[in-house]
Amino acid sequence: MSKFFSTKYAALTPYTPGEQPQDQQYVKLNTNESPFPPSPGVALAAEAAAGTLQLYSDPENGAITRAIAGHYGLKPEQILVGNGSDELLNFAFMAWGDAEHPFLFPDVTYGFYPVIAALNAVPYREIPLREDFTVRVEDYCGVRANVVLANPNAPTGLLLPVADVGRIAASNPDHVVVVDEAYIDFGGRSCLPLIWEYDNLLVVQTFSKSRSLAGGRLGFAAGAPALIRDLNTLKYSVNPYNVNRMTAACGVAALREHGYYAANAATIQQNRAYTADELRKRGFTVLDSAANFLFVRAPQLPGAALYEGLKARGVLIRHWQKPRIADWCRVTIGTKAQMDAFLAAVDEMMKES
Ligand code: PMP
Repeated sequence: MSKFFSTKYAALTPYTPGEQPQDQQYVKLNTNESPFPPSPGVALAAEAAAGTLQLYSDPENGAITRAIAGHYGLKPEQILVGNGSDELLNFAFMAWGDAEHPFLFPDVTYGFYPVIAALNAVPYREIPLREDFTVRVEDYCGVRANVVLANPNAPTGLLLPVADVGRIAASNPDHVVVVDEAYIDFGGRSCLPLIWEYDNLLVVQTFSKSRSLAGGRLGFAAGAPALIRDLNTLKYSVNPYNVNRMTAACGVAALREHGYYAANAATIQQNRAYTADELRKRGFTVLDSAANFLFVRAPQLPGAALYEGLKARGVLIRHWQKPRIADWCRVTIGTKAQMDAFLAAVDEMMKES
């Protein structure tokens, strides 16, 4: 760090994204991307928009906002789009977190939450999940704090029923409940309909996973218009043109070709069931995932050893050194061929040990 770096950030430990190797061809199952390219209309939309890049993007992002509203039966004033959902999560912590309004989230969840809390000097508490990694709903009821829950949770893949989210929102009327639905399209039921009922509920989704647009950076937040106005105040104070023209056009095209993405999500669910079965046959513990990844524990093999062994065999998965989950790894679900390559590498490792 330079001598100029502000002391307010000196203690910040930034988020570590999954590896994006640029050199070697890996079977890449480490960052929950889609194995499928965007639909044909997306490339055409990107090309058309590229011809207008001399102009700033629409600061209101009207076309993509209306398209999302139309797709989900919501009103445009209930939606704000962002440069990936990470940006919107950051705005949520900025908007509603302060010394009197801390954030609560599980001890095992998306690693970005504690980072953005620290970045914005928002106090937070990590609530331990049960031994089996399920959320104890009562821990979040009547807590007089903001809550952020990834649903399905990451990296566990476990899903909380919509009614439980409703209970949490109803019991904290003076605080905001943020539900991060990055992985909701792989078999879960969305809490989006609840935003009509609870004025303190914000649902965040992304085009990065089920819609094959991770590199485009597009997410959206949905909630009561007053919550969206709060987030807009921050957006216009940080980056008024937060979604670029090409990405906005790609998002509109992707929604038009929804059938393609729904079919891909169904394929991922089939491949997930297949991979979970195959791993269980090999003695792995596999959590019941509603996401495009599996959280798995190998028999008699620490998580780091599984990660390293697979990497040496050209397969990338994700492992964290955190004590509670050090025995576990997260495996993104790809194509059937990718999952077979992963299973073959697992078999090779198990034979050798
Ligand atoms: N939430 C969760 C739970 C995630 O795993 C991710 C992906 N890293 C995100 C949000 C952010 O996704 P993006 O910024 O690509 O929309």
